[in-house]
Order: sequence, then structure tokens, then C-alpha cells
Amino acid sequence: MAKETILLALSDPSTSQLIDKGILSPAGYQILHARTALEIRSVCKRQVPDLIFLSEQIEGEDGLQLARQLLESFPQIQLLLLPSQPSDALAIEAMRLGFSDYLQPPIRSQDVLQAVQKALRQHEQLSNWAEVESQRHTRSLQQRLNELEALQHIGHKISASLDLDNVLSAVVEAAVELTGAEESSLLLIEESSGELYMRAAKNFQDEFVRTFRLPTHDSLAGQVLRTGQPVLFDGKKPQKIKTAYLVQNLLYVPLQAKERVIGVLGVDNRQGGHTFNNTHLTLLSALADYAAIAIENARLYAHTEIERSKLETILTNIAEGVIVIDQDRRLILVNRMAREMFELADENISGRRIQDVIRHDDLVNLLTRFRATEPFRTEITLEDGRVFYAQLTPIPDVGQTATLQDITNLKELDRIKSDFVSTVSHDLRSPLTAILGYVELLDRVGPLSELQREFISRVQFNVQTITSLINDLLDLGRIEAGFDARNEIVPIDAMIKAVVEELSSSASEKSQQLQVDLSPELPVTLGDPVRLRQMLSNLVGNAIRYTQAGGTIRVRGRAEGDQVILQVVDNGPGIPLADQPYIFDKFYRASNIPAETPGTGLGLAIVKSIVENQQGRIWVDSNPGQGSTFTIVLPITDHEL
Ligand code: ADP
Repeated sequence: MAKETILLALSDPSTSQLIDKGILSPAGYQILHARTALEIRSVCKRQVPDLIFLSEQIEGEDGLQLARQLLESFPQIQLLLLPSQPSDALAIEAMRLGFSDYLQPPIRSQDVLQAVQKALRQHEQLSNWAEVESQRHTRSLQQRLNELEALQHIGHKISASLDLDNVLSAVVEAAVELTGAEESSLLLIEESSGELYMRAAKNFQDEFVRTFRLPTHDSLAGQVLRTGQPVLFDGKKPQKIKTAYLVQNLLYVPLQAKERVIGVLGVDNRQGGHTFNNTHLTLLSALADYAAIAIENARLYAHTEIERSKLETILTNIAEGVIVIDQDRRLILVNRMAREMFELADENISGRRIQDVIRHDDLVNLLTRFRATEPFRTEITLEDGRVFYAQLTPIPDVGQTATLQDITNLKELDRIKSDFVSTVSHDLRSPLTAILGYVELLDRVGPLSELQREFISRVQFNVQTITSLINDLLDLGRIEAGFDARNEIVPIDAMIKAVVEELSSSASEKSQQLQVDLSPELPVTLGDPVRLRQMLSNLVGNAIRYTQAGGTIRVRGRAEGDQVILQVVDNGPGIPLADQPYIFDKFYRASNIPAETPGTGLGLAIVKSIVENQQGRIWVDSNPGQGSTFTIVLPITDHEL
């Protein structure tokens, strides 16, 4: 029995009743009623009827207009027009709009049933067609989805795996799956022979794959390689790929890496099967791109790995110790020499905190407390007496590296040389004192001519110069050896004032301004007062000596955190850039001072040794022609302790 639902939406209620009770309900149809356009829409929303009877006017609304809207929303609905005032024009318009039929009074049961059956047949056909179509589209969409999933799977595999065999096997497997081919092969060019070999294959016999070789000059794959164009072979007659390798259908696409074709990806059917089409070509090309990326990645990785292992070999075998830490001060690398220095076995230290691995307080302090923004150098002494020159260098985005160079021999040579110089200087001092004494006596033992007096004064001047050189050398020897290092409370401000007072007459002789600029309550430090005064006196003395007459010299002092910063600033000739790295070396004198300027070239070496004995730092900033600023940073010692 028919179960179709029919909605009656007619302007005349009596006609509705007649059709319902008199014709359709007895025939077994389910009948619904609607009186207004609103009711019709709400019925359709709940359950779309199979057929609707409409009149040309529904409660003052245009029935045909309503029909148009209903068909737009529910194209499967069948509509029957039953006008209260029929006309040809109305009938024509209804047919154009897509009504399935048009009934006009008088209403005859047979006409109504025939029209309903016809409309419902149409409805059924339409529904069946829609279902078949939707199934077809779903199948095609599902297939597309499978293809995309397979491609995505390969993409994942490439980014997740560095194992080329694995990736290429997945590529040929996917090629077979996505194209429905019997077999798939990936051919690459062999650099040594210039021939193509099978790098990966699906559904080929192992022996065949191993022994497969193809010349590039007269083969289909070679043609793809040379032209960079795919080959689609449609199977009208079998095609020979090589001896005993005939195929019915074939599709080859190039493997393009950068600008170069490096191989060919192919699928084929030997038994017959289907021909390949453009969709297969697109899919295979995508797979070929993936394969090319994987091959290029593997090549780059191998290249990087070779470079990395070269660098590692160099770092491991160089004579310097190298330690690299990351930004969190965890170890990245400790080379062989550094391992030997700190007695580290071959254990894996990577990622561990430096203080847990290296037992050397100075080095650990240097690497953990200090964050170098530019290279920083210092000396490190091991327990066995070896001395290393350590350079800390920041490496952007990595961390820091410490290189350690063994300077034990140089230090020993330096010590021997200093000892020698000290001994000789000491031995020279007594005869020089005797010379000076006798020269002074000359005047008393007889009258001297003017010329003789002149010669005597030159002798005195030169002996004094040599004596001051010897005194400097002896001082330096003592400071470097750490002798006579007293540890007393030194009030820095008083010391600065005393030095300035002492040298103010030399400055006035050259009409120079000697100014002092001290921040209030400059702290005290702990050290050797004689040496600290010597340090300051050398710097201010240099500034007076090298600055032109009328120039200005400033001595500044201020505290910053737990450090005191002293500066001697002048507006003299400055120091040429090329000389600046060496002016703290013994006997070094800059190239811009006149040859006759008195001096030994030892003053700044003494200053530097004193500063370092005080655990301080010294450097110079100088612009030739504009002046020099010597800066000393000394740690402040809490004198209550
Ligand atoms: P000396 O003064 O006996 O030559 P120093 O070791 O004190 O030796 O100084 C080394 C060199 O540094 C000097 O010869 C001079 O060339 C340069 N120098 C030092 N202080 C100054 C300064 N204030 N202005 C310019 N040059 C300077």
C-alpha cells in the first residue's frame, strides 16, 4: 500500500476535504494540510512531503512565487497546481516553473489519481537518480581522499625519516596502490657508469632488480631523463623496456632535483591491466617530487655529516683544549686535549652541567659566572703546575667556547728571563752608584773647566737614566714574582689626592690643568699602598709627559657595584690604533712620540702587573690626536672583614 505523503495547500477548504477524504486517503496516501505559506514552510522543515497540491493564491500570497521558493530549497518535491480560476497563461507558467501537472475543475477522482501517480513516479525516479549520483560522487571523493592520505603519508615519512631506503620503498608501494599498476620502479643514474639502475621496486623479483641496468641513450627511461618530460604509453602493442621486460601499459615521470633530472619513477602493467591517465600522471608526479626531496635531503644530510665529522676530527685532534657550552651552560663538546687536561674518561658529557663534570674551580667560575659578550682572555693554572692561556668567546645562538692553550713553557722562559734581568740589574746597581759617587767627588779634588763640568753633568744624567731603568726592572721583577705584596686598607680618594699633589708642579711647569673629579664617599680597597700609588703616579706622570703644554689632565674616580673605577684622561697626542694592543708590553713605546722623549717603556708594564696583582683590569681608549683614557677597574674589599 502506498505510504507517500501529500500536502494539500489549497485556498478552498471544501476542495481540500473532497480531495483528502474522497480520493487520496481512501487510496492509502498520508495527507497533510496547510492553509498559509508559513504553515507550508514549517511542514517542509519537519518532513519534506513527496507531493504538494497548490492553488494560485494561498491566503493572499502568490502560490507560484511560493512554488519557486520551495523548488529552490527542495528540488525533489513534486508540485500539482489546482487553480480556483484556471487560465491558459497560468497553466503555461506553472509548467515553466517545474510543476509536474495542472488540474482544473471539475475535480474528477480518476484525473487526480492519475496525476498523483505520474508525479510520484517522477519523484521516485528523481530520488533514485540522486542516490546513484551521490554514491558515485562519494566513491570518487573517497578515492581522492585515499590518494591524498597516501601522499600525506609519504610526506610524513620523508620528514620523519632519514632512511632513504625506507622512504623510496614507500614511494614505489604508493605508486602501485594509487595507480592500480602491477609494478613500480624507481630508476636513478649511476654516476660512475652513466647507466640507470633500479634504486627501489615494487613487485619485481630481487634478482631482476639487482642486475637491472639501462643505457640512457636509447631507452624510454633515458628519454625521460634527457627531456625531463613524462612518457605515457597506452598499450596498443607491447613495448620492450629491455630484454625479457615487455610491458603493455607504462607511465614514466622524471625525478627533478633542483634544475637537474636525477632519475625516473615508473609504473607499468605487464599482463595488460588498464591504461594510465592524467590523474595517474598527476599522482605519480607528486610521488616523484617526494622521492626527489628525499634523495636531496639524504644527499645534504650525508654532506653535512661528512663536514661535521671533519670538524669534529679537527677539533678533537688540535693541540688546544676546546670546551663548548650552550646558553644554559651545559656542555656541548669537550675535545681530547681538554679531556686529558681535566682527566675526563671517554664518557658522554653532552648536556651535563659543566660544574658536574670539570673539577677546576677557576675554569668553572669563568664559564658559569661570566657571560662573555666579546672575547675574554685569562690564565688558568692546573694542579700539576701547567699554565693555560684561556680565551672565552661568545658564539651567537650556541653559547660560549673556551680554548685553552698550554703556555707552561713560555711562562717558564719568561720566569728565567725575569730572573736573569733581575740579577743583572741588581749587579749593575752597585757599580753605577759608585760611578755617581766618584763623579760627584771630581769637583772636590781639583778645579774643573766649564767643559769638564758640562761632561760631568751629562755623565750624571745618563747614569740616572740607567739607574731609573734598573729600578723599574727590579720593581717589575718583584711585582711579577708577587714579592713585597702588602695587604692593607687603602683609602683610594686620599691616595689620588696625594699623587695629584705630588705631580702638580710638573703639570704647572707645562701650564697644564690637572683636575680631580671624585664621587663622594669613594670606598676603600685592600692592597699594597706603595704599589697602588706607583700605579697611579705612572699613569698621571705619563699623561703630563705626553700631553702638550697647556693641555688638560683629569683623574676620575667612582664606585660601581662592588668595583671602583679609576680613569686618567688627557687631551694629548693619543696612541695610534696599531700600537694600542702592545703598549702594556715591556719596553714598548708608541710610534708617534718623538725619539728624544725620555722613558724606558716599562711604566705601563709595571702598572698592568700591579693591577693584575690586585685582581683588577686595565685598558686604554685612545683616539690619535684627541687624547687617551686609561681605565682601571679594581674590586672593592669590605674592610670590616
Ligand atoms: P714610557 O712612558 O717610559 O715610554 P710606558 O710603558 O709608561 O713607557 O708607556 C708606553 C708608551 O705608551 C709610551 O712610550 C707612549 O708611547 C705611550 N703612552 C703612554 N701614556 C700615554 C699618554 N697618556 N698619551 C700618549 N701616549 C702614551
